[in-house]
Amino acid sequence: MSKRKPLIAANWKMYKTPADAAAFVTAFAPLVKGHTRDEIVLCPSFLSVATVVAAVKGTAIHVGGQNMHWQEEGAFTGETSAAMLHAAGCTHVVIGHSERRQFFGETDETVNQKLHTALKHKLVPIVCVGELLAEREGGLTEEVLLRQTSKALVGITAETAKPIVIAYEPVWAIGTGKTATPEMAAEAHLIIRSCIARALGREVAEQLRILYGGSVKPDNASSLLNQPEIDGALVGGASLDPQSFAKIVNYIES
Ligand code: PEP
Repeated sequence: MSKRKPLIAANWKMYKTPADAAAFVTAFAPLVKGHTRDEIVLCPSFLSVATVVAAVKGTAIHVGGQNMHWQEEGAFTGETSAAMLHAAGCTHVVIGHSERRQFFGETDETVNQKLHTALKHKLVPIVCVGELLAEREGGLTEEVLLRQTSKALVGITAETAKPIVIAYEPVWAIGTGKTATPEMAAEAHLIIRSCIARALGREVAEQLRILYGGSVKPDNASSLLNQPEIDGALVGGASLDPQSFAKIVNYIES
């Protein structure tokens, strides 16, 4: 049994108005009332953060941003800072999601800069890494995971690393209905954990949580989340519906 507390995060992407987000929490919160086994995080769009923070008050549900800028503040139209997320009540932030890498020019370098800024502002960073289909088929999975993980961790020390969470999200499994088998995910997690061990030491590597993301659904959550190497999930599509996300959070432990 892993001693790492599993973290299950909902990534709502560009879905839900503030009213939709509030309605989700009204339906979802009672379904996970008293749930302490896993850390639960909802990541709404920036516009719904305040609504969700207010709605989860008094529950154990946390709120995270889906992205942030690495600078403290400045003339960056359309961007949101770590300080703003923290002040709005966010405790977590997703960094380097593949959609940001693919559509918004996120690089390993900006992921690293964001990671430093998130830690400075006491946000739990959920750093996404993962290979494209062509990279997996070309036998490059290990190389990609090692590159993305080691570059994300540049300048991070064993002392500062503790809050970091890594999410292994094979890009070919995101929103496609294709899921990595539990064995594939566990193998990737071992690669990532050994990279962390080389960068920060075995003790730190054993403490850091590595989540799996990519078409996690109520019917595959148990088989994935019962893998000792998998410390939780980052869930997109199946987190939009309160019943479906609650079923994932309440997966059966074997
Ligand atoms: C995601 O957006 O991080 C994700 C894993 O999406 P989905 O669950 O829809 O594949």
